[in-house]
Amino acid sequence: MKHLFGPVNSRRLGLSQGIDLLPPKTCNFNCIYCEINKAPQLSCERGEHVPTAVIIAEIDGLLKDEARVRDLDVFTITASGEPTLHTGIGTIIRHIKKKTDKPVAILTNGSQLYLKEVRQDLQAADIVIPSLDGARPESFRKVNRPAKCSADLETIIKGIADFSREFAGEIWLEILLVDNINDTPEDIAALQNAISRIRPNRVQLNTVARPPFESFARPLTGKRMEEVKREIEKGYDGPVDILAGSKDNEPCESGKGREGSLESITPNKVEDEIIEMLLRRPCTATDIAATMNLDAERASEILKSMERGGSLTVKIHGGKKYYRVPAGQKTGDE
Ligand code: SF4
Repeated sequence: MKHLFGPVNSRRLGLSQGIDLLPPKTCNFNCIYCEINKAPQLSCERGEHVPTAVIIAEIDGLLKDEARVRDLDVFTITASGEPTLHTGIGTIIRHIKKKTDKPVAILTNGSQLYLKEVRQDLQAADIVIPSLDGARPESFRKVNRPAKCSADLETIIKGIADFSREFAGEIWLEILLVDNINDTPEDIAALQNAISRIRPNRVQLNTVARPPFESFARPLTGKRMEEVKREIEKGYDGPVDILAGSKDNEPCESGKGREGSLESITPNKVEDEIIEMLLRRPCTATDIAATMNLDAERASEILKSMERGGSLTVKIHGGKKYYRVPAGQKTGDE
């Protein structure tokens, strides 16, 4: 599996070069809404799950392509799992900052920020986006299903709040809401309380926009997302964004398009690139065509052939057809 992906045209970050630090899905949570279609390798141990030197070599390879790097708005460190479980994350952030003038963003479930070494590792980043989906223990357990080894909820909230105080960059707190699970009035009140402790630069509300790991994880309607936003705004004077669900037919993020046409690339290579993309999240044919720079008809032919061959499955979610890799598909890192 390659550890660089994209660039992806992210609505919140701009043209974002993804960096994936872990084998999928190495995580200390097993969220019901997770977009990665496989059971987690539950772990709370920090380690060099993929050699740091391998990831840095891939980054250095990309940096040689000056034209491509010039277009980027941001490097985004994420993982098909929890990126702060990788002990090389600080080295990787500092390497990017030393070699480029681009900002670095980190997407994290926030659960490891109670560890001083993790907070130190993330200091060199520009934007940290921790999640906090539930501020009541029962909702937290239902939505995130933390591993037994994971810290308890109060420790996690305190860790995010401590990091927020220490960090000179931007903190955007992401809250993913699941219908009837973490969106009750008690949940929203508890989240308001946590937000007032954390004092993020912005709050970002999300919902189950793509096919979730568990089919019972349902999205909130756009109307309900707007109601929650108004509730949060009563106790928080920073910006509150809605990332998904503001319109019931919110489009997916889609790629800017890889450089150059795929016509000169072998069909197997195209299929490999599609699988790489789908290992991280389910995508529609439109997402895939845009990201891979394919015309819609060609993308549809390739996807149908891959579906017939069993390397893809289809899931209808929110009235749209998504492609994803079948559960249990192995990657090069496993
Ligand atoms: S959504 Fe993120 S934190 Fe939750 S299980 Fe998936 S990879 Fe882990």
